[in-house]
Amino acid sequence: MSDVMLVTGGSRGIGAAVARLGAAAGYRVCINYRGNRQAAEAVVDEIVAAGGRAIAVAADVAEEGEVVRLFECIDRELGPVTALVNNAGILERQCRVADMDAARLARILAVNVTGSFLCAREAIRRMSIAQGGTGGAIVNLSSVAARLGAPHEYVDYAATKGAIDTFTVGLAKEVADEGIRVNAVRPGIIYTDIHASGGEPERVDHLKDTVPMRRGGQAEEVARAVLWLLSDAASYTTGTCIDVTGGR
Ligand code: NAP
Repeated sequence: MSDVMLVTGGSRGIGAAVARLGAAAGYRVCINYRGNRQAAEAVVDEIVAAGGRAIAVAADVAEEGEVVRLFECIDRELGPVTALVNNAGILERQCRVADMDAARLARILAVNVTGSFLCAREAIRRMSIAQGGTGGAIVNLSSVAARLGAPHEYVDYAATKGAIDTFTVGLAKEVADEGIRVNAVRPGIIYTDIHASGGEPERVDHLKDTVPMRRGGQAEEVARAVLWLLSDAASYTTGTCIDVTGGR
């Protein structure tokens, strides 16, 4: 029986690239999304047309009840999750810390941090060999912003990704003897739609000359690092973070 992968926010951008590569590697894949059903179904159709197995399930990862239902749906349709990619993440419009209100901070923390914790909780309950599972792997999507801080743009977003780095280290140690590996990938500037929600749709082209490799990254280049960390090739790797930034 093949492994079961959940990609949160798997309908677009980096998540969609992970879902496609995961299916090609033999995983049965659940593509989670929040609102854009058409985009999620398009990725499912592509995977199925290529001979893979995939389903799309709507759930807001920031809502505990929806996360519980998401995992129960996967249990029924594909079997228990053995590979979790905590990819769903949001940006708010660029502004200074001096102008951020509590509602904005609550939204970004809920999706980027709480969502990752809740999905990891449900995954661990199914993966842990101490609880009758067969083990598994978790990859969290951090960001180079965790290192750079994103001043004048989105320090709130950068701080959520700093939290993800710490979450990765702590959780990895907590479940290392339960057959679960936990790692993170820190992308640099990647061509996806996320930059439009920050108010700068052409951000990658604006910034690409600041990257040592003088170009933005493609979602698939990030997805390859995620797939490696999930795979048995990374069997002794846990609690670490791979930068996929073109040297930034
Ligand atoms: P994206 O193109 O904006 O796609 C976001 C995905 O997340 C969509 O599938 C979206 O679904 C889903 N999503 C958003 N909020 C959700 C929620 N509350 N619950 C469930 N799904 C939700 O994003 P991306 O650029 O691929 O980024 C993916 C991850 O990489 C994020 O964690 C991001 O912070 C990180 N990252 C990206 C970059 C970059 O340059 N692109 C750099 C560093 C880190 P709907 O379409 O249905 O809303």
